[in-house]
Amino acid sequence: MRFLCSPPQENAMKHVIIGNGIAGISAAETIRSMTPDADIVMIGDETAPPYCRPMISMVLEGSITGERLPIRDADFYERAGISPVLSHRVSAIDVEGKSVRIGGERPIPFDRLLLATGADPRPIRAENRHLGNIFFMRTQEHVRGMLQALPQVRRALILGGGLVGFKAAYGLLRRGVEVTMLIRSGYPLSQQVDSHAGRMILKELVSRGLEVRVETDVAAFDGNGAVRRAHLSDGTEIPCDMVVVGKGVLPALSFVPRDKIAVDLGILVDEQLRTTAPDIYAAGDVAESMDIARNSRWVNAIWPEAVAQGRIAGMNMAGRTVAYKGSLSRNVIRIFGLDVMTAGIVNPPEDDRYKIVSAIDRRRRSYRKLVFHEDRLVGMTLVNDIEQGGVLVALIQGCIAVRIPGEKMLAPGFNCRRLFI
Ligand SMILES: Cc1cc2nc3c(=O)[nH]c(=O)nc-3n(C[C@H](O)[C@H](O)[C@H](O)COP(=O)(O)OP(=O)(O)OC[C@H]3O[C@@H](n4cnc5c(N)ncnc54)[C@H](O)[C@@H]3O)c2cc1C
Repeated sequence: MRFLCSPPQENAMKHVIIGNGIAGISAAETIRSMTPDADIVMIGDETAPPYCRPMISMVLEGSITGERLPIRDADFYERAGISPVLSHRVSAIDVEGKSVRIGGERPIPFDRLLLATGADPRPIRAENRHLGNIFFMRTQEHVRGMLQALPQVRRALILGGGLVGFKAAYGLLRRGVEVTMLIRSGYPLSQQVDSHAGRMILKELVSRGLEVRVETDVAAFDGNGAVRRAHLSDGTEIPCDMVVVGKGVLPALSFVPRDKIAVDLGILVDEQLRTTAPDIYAAGDVAESMDIARNSRWVNAIWPEAVAQGRIAGMNMAGRTVAYKGSLSRNVIRIFGLDVMTAGIVNPPEDDRYKIVSAIDRRRRSYRKLVFHEDRLVGMTLVNDIEQGGVLVALIQGCIAVRIPGEKMLAPGFNCRRLFI
């Protein structure tokens, strides 16, 4: 993409964006497309050009090389007229003085600021967690480290049965490593699916050679420099030469002054993605916005929401008032022979206003479950019968009232598109 931009004018609006992930990039491109004269500074602690974070696991599994990861060219910043400050971490924000601080460097002033710092892997407390070959999988640097260690690795332990844990397990299995997955809950992907789909996934993983230990956690590691063994909370031990920690993420906001910018789990934003501090916005994994299905604030740390939020924040920063319709958790993932698609609320609370309908077809190994809140569809889990998933997501996002019994939507041959007419 080539932008027609002139060098910043003396009185040009100065936009500072912290984080050069997809939310930050989407905001910067939007601001540039709307305001050719604006001064845009982008600060990021990773050095590489912007890249596709969800695809780092494909580098681990060996289906692509690292060269396929960048989502913009190396001269992206220059062509877009953005001043990059890379390999630097923002340590503080002066909300009243309108500047950000990077270590001992001179503060960088801003007129409008975007916080797009994403998320950090949730840390673990186990003893000796700093031994060698214990990895997180959040950045391409992490995957590079894992690949370097790989020739010495025969047995790996994956902590956590979420999306990242699953992707790490799959990648290492494809590399010929023996993998054990340790899950604190009773089944994998417990944040994304219900127990029925979870048990189907568990069965599939085990049938493909993965050892899965449920309802247990790690208490300590030992090894001489590099990890050699994990001690579990149930008193057993597992020998391992590599550990991947995939226990979810937490919004990366340690530098945010909580007395000036309201924070719950993520940074609270309104529908224009403004934080509670004037001229400061937040977008992507770090932001906590309204969740369409839950009708309450939630952090939905997924790529498409980071893109959407970055764009909307960028428009508002550039001076056009645009409302964000709210976020929705959703995922499509292939787990060996199972296609799994989920969205919204999959495990509703005990409340009479929620209604669940489901259909199981054992011959086709399919399972479909819909969750309604009064007359609105608010969640779904589809296993191996995902063709209508896109339409169902649109129903949830559009908050469209469903006027027929939910069971009818699961009847063979029913086309959910009819609900839009
Ligand atoms: C292995 C893996 C698989 C995934 N798979 C999927 C998937 O299948 N589908 C999906 O929708 N999502 C997936 N995700 C999640 C998706 O990658 C994120 O939702 C998305 O990258 C969020 O974008 P972001 O711009 O908000 O944050 P990030 O991509 O995290 O970018 C934020 C940037 O800011 C930098 N930063 C943080 N703090 C500072 C600071 N103080 N100063 C300067 N820079 C800072 C970070 O280092 C980072 O470079 C996956 C993530 C991982 C790790």
